[in-house]
Amino acid sequence: MKNHLLLTVAIVSGLFSCQSPSPSSENTAYQGQPPSPRVSTVTKPIVANNNQTYTLPGGIYASSAFLGGRLNGIAQSNDTLYTAIINPENAPINPSAWYAFKLWADAPKTIWLRLTYMVGQHRYWPKQSTDGQSWSALDTTRVIIENQGVERFGTGSQAESALLKLDLTADTLWLAAQEIQTTREVFAWMDSKVTPGRVDTLTLGYSREGRPLRAMKIGNATADRLVMVISRQHPPEVTGYLAMKGFIDEIVSDSELTDKFLYQYTLYVVPLMNPDGVDGGHWRHNSGGIDLNRDWADFNQPETRTVRDLMLDQAAQGKHWDFAIDFHSTWDDIYYTLPDSLSGSLPRLVSRWLDSLQVKLPGPKPTIRPTKNIEPTMVSRNYFYKQFNTEAIVFELGDNTDRDFLKLKGEVAAQELMKLMLSYHE
Ligand SMILES: [Zn+2]
Repeated sequence: MKNHLLLTVAIVSGLFSCQSPSPSSENTAYQGQPPSPRVSTVTKPIVANNNQTYTLPGGIYASSAFLGGRLNGIAQSNDTLYTAIINPENAPINPSAWYAFKLWADAPKTIWLRLTYMVGQHRYWPKQSTDGQSWSALDTTRVIIENQGVERFGTGSQAESALLKLDLTADTLWLAAQEIQTTREVFAWMDSKVTPGRVDTLTLGYSREGRPLRAMKIGNATADRLVMVISRQHPPEVTGYLAMKGFIDEIVSDSELTDKFLYQYTLYVVPLMNPDGVDGGHWRHNSGGIDLNRDWADFNQPETRTVRDLMLDQAAQGKHWDFAIDFHSTWDDIYYTLPDSLSGSLPRLVSRWLDSLQVKLPGPKPTIRPTKNIEPTMVSRNYFYKQFNTEAIVFELGDNTDRDFLKLKGEVAAQELMKLMLSYHE
């Protein structure tokens, strides 16, 4: 982005310098084409997390040998201070520094652990667990954020490192950037929702490393109207997934509204678009080293291709994708939409829906950011709209949004959406 900006400045200043040529000096400003907005999604190498267990001086142990684990190195810096190194799967990469590892000690000991990053910076407030299943944020008295940026959003808000005060014992302490939700937890949740005739699961295809791309198929299998729900293109974006879970839990629940809705619609839900990245503890990319949410134009990666093929196949059978939603996480709750002028088959559905959410949900109102730039499609929302005339949205949840609120938001979002979508067919 920074390079793009510099180039834009260079181009603009180049234009102005043309108006008052200075014969004595060479024109050193950049001349030529602007940068391509298209990002290559051709497979690149990644370095996998080493899944190693480390034995450290002082009777301390650390390990990232589990699904979703990431700890690339660790050293003892002095008697009570240890330094962990966290790396991304490759670079350049969006700054979402995922980490997840276990610690334990021969005898009870309080240590300081500094989280450092060779590329990128500290982003996620540490979460702890004693069983890898239930999680809580580390207490503020135990975390020192070092050299924090002054901005509220984006890389300018990130810190150089974080220093954690930890009480270690022989029992395992899990530390992670967010709650660990890998294929194991997510597939178990999907299976728990199966209700014959209402909710089924299926395998759409396979990831680059051969993990199943599993989907839920919900509602009336013979309906002509379809909805697509996806999440976790970006592995660390657990809060987006948690809101999606609330959204789906509500849609599969028993009520007059859900019965009506599921009679009219079939939903396909892909909770883990990037299972390799999630299980591999990646910051952003799939195991092809690519940001999947830049691959919806070229479809170089099997994960995006698989979902595209399902959608094209259903459309070829005369069915229509009425609505599609892609759940993500960022620094704050935000809705990335298309403007009403780019409305699909249910005109103004998304803006009417978000208006009702702004009224129904408590707390600060999230920003709504429409964009008209949909070419090249690259991101899922633009592809859904352009290819299928689908009402589409990127639904972003904050990294630190309260977990109960995420669930509530997902539920209310589902209720309001179902009511509105049905109103187009009355
Ligand atoms: Zn994302």
